[in-house]
Amino acid sequence: MSVPGPKIRRIVIVGGGTAGWMTAAALARALSGQGAGARHEITLIESEAIGTVGVGEATVPPIHEFNRYLGLDPAELLQATRGTIKLGIEFEGWGGAGQRYFHPFGYLGTEMGGIHFHHYWLRHLAAGGDPDHGPYNLPTMAAREGRFAPATSAGPVHHAVHFDASAYAKVLRGLAEAKGAQRIEGKVADVALRGDDGHIEAVTMEDGRRIAGDLFVDCSGFRGLLIEQALETGYHEWSRWLPCDAAIALPARRDTDPPPYTRSTACESGWRWRIPLQHRDGNGYVYSRAHLDDDAAEAALRPHLPGEPLAEANRLRFTAGHRKVIWNRNCIAIGLAGGFIEPLESTSIHLIQTTVIRLLSLLPRDGIDPAVVARFNRDAVHEYETIRDFVIAHYATAGRRDTPFWRDVAAAGMPDNLRERIEAFRATGNILFEPGDLFGPTNWFCVLTGQGVRPESWHPIADGLTGEELASRFARLREAIAKQLAQLPPHARFLRESGAAPGV
Ligand code: FAD
Repeated sequence: MSVPGPKIRRIVIVGGGTAGWMTAAALARALSGQGAGARHEITLIESEAIGTVGVGEATVPPIHEFNRYLGLDPAELLQATRGTIKLGIEFEGWGGAGQRYFHPFGYLGTEMGGIHFHHYWLRHLAAGGDPDHGPYNLPTMAAREGRFAPATSAGPVHHAVHFDASAYAKVLRGLAEAKGAQRIEGKVADVALRGDDGHIEAVTMEDGRRIAGDLFVDCSGFRGLLIEQALETGYHEWSRWLPCDAAIALPARRDTDPPPYTRSTACESGWRWRIPLQHRDGNGYVYSRAHLDDDAAEAALRPHLPGEPLAEANRLRFTAGHRKVIWNRNCIAIGLAGGFIEPLESTSIHLIQTTVIRLLSLLPRDGIDPAVVARFNRDAVHEYETIRDFVIAHYATAGRRDTPFWRDVAAAGMPDNLRERIEAFRATGNILFEPGDLFGPTNWFCVLTGQGVRPESWHPIADGLTGEELASRFARLREAIAKQLAQLPPHARFLRESGAAPGV
């Protein structure tokens, strides 16, 4: 039985932000090099007059896999995007006033006896041991001392990057165009649907040009020009648990060396970010408009800038959630057009990456198979929901109750799946996760305990060592991390000497 619809040859991407150019670069890379058989046309439409969302500077480690796929050299990319290293996120005030913790990349300790290290650490804690687990994770210690290199003699140093998103899009545009993608400048004014099946047939530009396609990728940002305005797909929103619906972004000068981590500070009605680039800091306040108006949010942000502001404040609005389906008829929504989980754990660019890879792996040839679309949508929604739960966990377990915002957040509760995870963790120390989840045991453990959630028990295998054996294993682990740490240069020196930032 053949699948319905025309063969897929012409792919039209609407939007040239991070999502549009990541999609174009990956599709062009995958579909070029087919020699005389190359039959795909990739067209990207973007409008300079509309511009991009202008934020999105922090990433998570899998970004390296995407960049490697595209053949990007890490040091050259840091240089082109004025980027820095991200070893994790420092959370200030989330567990309560004056409290702070670090959510690192990489792993805590090492697996022992087939179970995760944190079970042993919980046992050690119950026996009155030092509650600081930083010395068992290299990225945490490197962040504390402001050090970095991609690897030590013992292996890689887990990290992601901060970058100027518009410079990243420019690099990707270069790659996509070199592989044959065509760029069209201008505004899409109209979307034509086919009469028989309601698929998108073509988009019409303001100047009357008509661009027809077989498959459309909506990367038009929050407006969802194709997926929502044309196809009326609908949106599942999560504002009940994630009430922040606005942000103010304001880049500012910084005169000190860039720290190799993001900072997130809990505030009266949301939280503030600080993302260091080589030449400036990205700053912003993510807040709930039901609790704080835009002017008050801007006034609250300005005193916390590290130096003189370098642009006008960028005011943004959003609703946490995702389209009811990400692939609807012959349109796939990628980036903000598909959905948005607020930026607390910098997961949006990662969701672009995984959606692009999912599209590539299921790319139709001879028409669109409903079973493929259903599977794509099921996987995409599952991924959104597991990341959503990790982000909600920060709010749901926050130690603040001192303002109406934090009291409302506490009263909102959490999705059932998340409640189950947190209760299981509290009772047993186990972290329920699935292979393939972006956030694994170390991430959950560091965030939940950082916010003050203390398990009452641990895995029985962790009782298998004597107190002395446990102390000696812990000492060896700390020593190994300390040795690796000593091999790392200061972050700024790494940027300079690797050629990533000759001027820093
Ligand atoms: P956009 O950047 O909005 O691009 C839309 C494109 O569509 C533009 O090129 C525009 O010109 C084009 N377009 C729209 N309408 C038309 C039309 N009619 N005709 C032609 N072209 C059109 N993500 C992270 O991973 N890390 C972070 O730290 C992070 N921080 C964030 C902070 C905030 C406050 C917000 C709101 C988001 C943040 N994100 C972050 C998300 C990140 O910014 C986005 O995922 C990323 O920028 C992708 O955006 P986009 O390409 O989907 O949309």
